[in-house]
Amino acid sequence: MQKEVSKIYKTLVCGGEVSLAVLDTTVLVREAVRRHALSPVAAAALGRTMTATAYLCSWLKGEESNLYVTVSGNGPGGKISVSGDGALHLRGNIQVPDVSLPLRADGKLDVGGCVGKEGTLTVVRDDGEGIPFVGTCALLTGEIGEDFSAYFLTSEQRPTAIALGVLLTPDALCLGAGGVFLQPMPGASEEAISYAETQIAKFAHISSLIAEMGAEKIMKDFFGAEHTDERDLVFRCRCSREKAASAVLSMGKKDAEKLLDEEGKIAVHCHDCNTDYLFDREDVAALFGDKNSK
Ligand SMILES: [Zn+2]
Repeated sequence: MQKEVSKIYKTLVCGGEVSLAVLDTTVLVREAVRRHALSPVAAAALGRTMTATAYLCSWLKGEESNLYVTVSGNGPGGKISVSGDGALHLRGNIQVPDVSLPLRADGKLDVGGCVGKEGTLTVVRDDGEGIPFVGTCALLTGEIGEDFSAYFLTSEQRPTAIALGVLLTPDALCLGAGGVFLQPMPGASEEAISYAETQIAKFAHISSLIAEMGAEKIMKDFFGAEHTDERDLVFRCRCSREKAASAVLSMGKKDAEKLLDEEGKIAVHCHDCNTDYLFDREDVAALFGDKNSK
């Protein structure tokens, strides 16, 4: 059963030694597909990255804290950029939204081929206190899940078992998307660590499970978790006409007018949500406080 809004459910399992999170990001991925007109493999790559970013954001301290994830591989999909905040508002893009690749031999979308196996995964976490934390690790497979596992281990010293998936039709309708994260608490026993590894093996088809039963039922049926922390995940950009206007102002009046002469209007583009903010001659005149200009 799909919810109207994407969700993250979190709780402790294995006697309190392992933190469990199950995410249903179907609606979030649908919104990304709609805004960016993504191909299926681009939707899978961006969707997996958004799911992992949502998980990372769920650990941010305040709603004002921000997190930026960049997956920069050598594949034809180009760079993936996703950001989110403590309020679990997320947005993101992939450099080549219409990238197309043949399916893998097993019939799955070739996310690793799209992202590329060489490159870096970078996380910048800004809690608003002092210098932001920056963690980088080399990509392992470009499949995103393994890459984030490597990131957690090398940059945060937190072994984390991760399953990520996005199920799409050939015309990029997202049928189910989400992830499972099992993160042993600091100082957890060997049993807890092997519990996480054993459990994650059950989620090789996480996107189908999300489509069939939803995240809440996965928590109950696979882990017996009844009392879970539940939060909404929303695709929401931080751009606005006001911010676009200040970008026009920062060009200076002379350059803005030159661009108007050449183009007829000024378009300020937001890559995160694929929105154009348009300013015509009258708008620009008003911005620079030039009341007599037409
Ligand atoms: Zn935007």
